[in-house]
Amino acid sequence: MSATITCARCQRETSRMSESPLPPPFGDELLAHSCEECFGDWMNTEIMIINEYKLDLGVPRNQDMLNEEMARFLNLPSGGGEKSAGAPPQATPRASHDDHHGHGGGSCC
Ligand SMILES: [Zn+2]
Repeated sequence: MSATITCARCQRETSRMSESPLPPPFGDELLAHSCEECFGDWMNTEIMIINEYKLDLGVPRNQDMLNEEMARFLNLPSGGGEKSAGAPPQATPRASHDDHHGHGGGSCC
């Protein structure tokens, strides 16, 4: 078995992390696509994100969001880098329709 991987973020060939930093499925992906340094970078970024948004990690949705951020940060395949997950690139259909803003509110006079 090869002990080297090419990191998806820094593109360096480097040795695999000796153990999976996260449970599957992300752990496996990290082992295959990330080097220890980049994962360390993510750990720091993750802490910043958690502090900034005051994320409650007891909430599964927040965990999901963090995992998505991680996938994007580390350029993992599941972050949409190579294969699209089915969603179109600009998946915000509501943004074009902007009648979301203070129509018929309270004009007093
Ligand atoms: Zn790396």
